[in-house]
Formats: sequence, C-alpha cells, structure tokens
Amino acid sequence: LESELEDIRGAGTWKSERVIASRQGPHLRLAGGGAGIINFCANNYLGLSSHPEVIRAAVEALEKFGAGLSSVRFICGTQSIHKDLEEKIARFHQREDAILYASCFDANAGIFEALLTPEDAVLSDELNHASIIDGIRLCKANKYRYKHMDMQDLEAKLKEAQKHRLRLVATDGAFSMDGDIAPLREICQLAQKYDALVFIDECHATGFLGPNGRGTDELLGVMDKVTIINSTLGKALGGAAGGYTTGPKPLIDLLRQRSRPYLFSNSLPPAVVGCASKALDLLMESNAIAQSMAAKTQRFRSKMTAAGFTISGKDHPICPVMLGDARLASVMAEDMLNRGIYVIGFSYPVVPKGKARIRVQISAVHSDEDIDRCVEAFTEVGRKHGALP
Ligand code: PLP
Repeated sequence: LESELEDIRGAGTWKSERVIASRQGPHLRLAGGGAGIINFCANNYLGLSSHPEVIRAAVEALEKFGAGLSSVRFICGTQSIHKDLEEKIARFHQREDAILYASCFDANAGIFEALLTPEDAVLSDELNHASIIDGIRLCKANKYRYKHMDMQDLEAKLKEAQKHRLRLVATDGAFSMDGDIAPLREICQLAQKYDALVFIDECHATGFLGPNGRGTDELLGVMDKVTIINSTLGKALGGAAGGYTTGPKPLIDLLRQRSRPYLFSNSLPPAVVGCASKALDLLMESNAIAQSMAAKTQRFRSKMTAAGFTISGKDHPICPVMLGDARLASVMAEDMLNRGIYVIGFSYPVVPKGKARIRVQISAVHSDEDIDRCVEAFTEVGRKHGALP
C-alpha cells in the first residue's frame, strides 16, 4: 500500500483535505488560522447549508424523532417525516412518487440493476458522474456509451440498440466539471423517435435551474418527457446528505422492493430529513433565492470574461476558469487562497489532459463584493502567473 500511495503522490494526483473550523457558507474559517476566507468551492448553490430555518428544522426533527432509526426502511425505519419528504419531492418535481436514499450515489447505484434486465439497453453519456457509471456496471443490461452531448452519436447508438426490449438514455442534467447542460430537448426527441426512456441526474440542477428551480427538465421545457430523475439533498437542498429517485409510481414501487442500497442500508436520520424538507418549503414558497444566485453567476461570468478569462459552460453557477496547464491551475489556486479566496484546481485524471481549470462555484449567499473580490484576485494572480497578458 505504501508504494501505491507513493505512486499517487508521485503522479501529482494526491487529494488532500483542507479542514474547515466553521459552518459551511460563503465565509469560512480554516482550522489552524485562516479566518474570513471567501469560499467558492462548495455545492451550496442556494446558501441553504447554514440557513437558520433549515438548522431549526433539523433541531426540531432531531428532538421529536430522535437521532436515527437503527433500521432499514422496510423493517422498522419509516417515520411520518420520511413519507412527507417523499411526497414533497414528488410534488416539487411534478412526478407521481419518490423514494429516499442515503445519498444520490446510492440512488444511482440502485436504479439500473433494479430496472434493467439482460434484454434491455442503457445508453450513457461518456462524461456521466462516477455513480452513474458504477450503477450501470452493476446491471446486466447491454451498455452503450455515447460521446459527450453528441446527438449524432446518441442516434447511432439508439439505432443499434433497437434490437433490445427496452432502452434507457442516462445523462447528467448539468455536468459538474464543465458547467454545461445536457441538450435535453434533443435527447427527448431522439428518445421519442427510438422508443427510449430518459433518466437524468439532477444533482447540479435541482433547486435552481429553470424558472421555478425544478431543474434542467423545467429549464428546457421537457418536464413531461423525462421519465426518471435522480438527485441529491446534499447540495442545493440544504446540503446535509441524502438522495432520491422520483418518477412513475410503479418504478418507485419496484425500487422499494428491489433496489439494494435502499433495502440494505439505514434510513435517513430525522435531522437530515428535517433540513431537506425545510429547504424544499423555502424553494416552493419563492424562487427569490435561485434568482439571486443567477444574478451573481451572471456578474461573475461577465466580469471574468471581460478580464480576459475563458469560462466554460453557460449560465450555470459552476464556472470553470479554463487554464489548460495543470501546474498553472494548482499554483494559481494556492495563490488565490493566499488572497483569501478558496477555489480548487482540477487537472488530469479528473478532467482531460491539457484542460486543467479552476472551478468556481457561485452561491446565492455570496455578496456582490465577494464576487468582485474574487474577480480582482483572479486578475492579479492570472497576470502574475502569465494566464493573462
Ligand atoms: N451525481 C452527481 C452528478 C454528483 O455530482 C454527485 C455528487 O458529487 C452525486 C451524484 C452523488 O451525490 P451524493 O453526494 O448525494 O451521493
């Protein structure tokens, strides 16, 4: 193991963990000093992770329903709050039913095996999240991988897959490394033409994409055409933990009977359920938080572009600042932290070779001043290291 660990260090791909000594939020204190750091690398898109009402809801659920269930759902682990949250999730997405998991990783790990047989086919975008890839590995369906957001390739693969009983197209709604959004309208048209179902992973969309924050399917006007949604409670929806599948009732019923991460893992803790439930209430009351995040995203993207940087994706709070060189991305990210801005550099193998970047994530709770300070720091650091003229 030691030599394997050395290899990881030697390859420059060692992932170290910075320790935070405060709540998650736009301003952090790092362990061992570092107060007043402006945080641009959490998936806390709506700033609900430390929202006072979300925290209060967690405390109330903890007091009323206890620390946890010490049981899986079907033995002795379903409380009224689990049923209420599932009903709320289904209502939020305008679907028939929903099922909770300990994480979206689990939801993705459990769905393909439960739904698809060796007679079926799954067609997956090559840049889908690791948990979709793992979930597909676990199922016995025929596997097709289409080029990232390439509709010609998807069509070719759909034609090839006509021989199978059932076809499922699986894609991230928004891709977390590039901030780009799947062409769901085109995907749904192809799915209709070739008699396929559509599955989307909405972890980086639920709560804030679309006029009412319902996600990519709402943004692109295909809410009635996407069959299955998996998403997380661990990002925009309060950030605690948990995931879910929402879709047709018979599918959810089947998952309760067959999905292994659901059947063989503990129920979500009440405090976690309380957080997510309150986050959904806040979002269903008003879309002001999501709008505020969109305005800040726009501010960051336009100011950075004017400063001479290339930002990948469009209109998404994931704003990858494209730098190309891996060393440049890591040195610039370090230097940004010296200026009080917490951002992370990504390089191969997380992103393709030669496409290193610093990923900035905007949150509704960043102030305009936070955004401007981030742009100023990027401009200074970019000039210093030759990323800008
Ligand atoms: N799917 C995507 C696209 C993600 O980005 C993530 C988290 O990083 C997951 C699934 C897993 O979500 P969770 O943290 O709820 O397991």
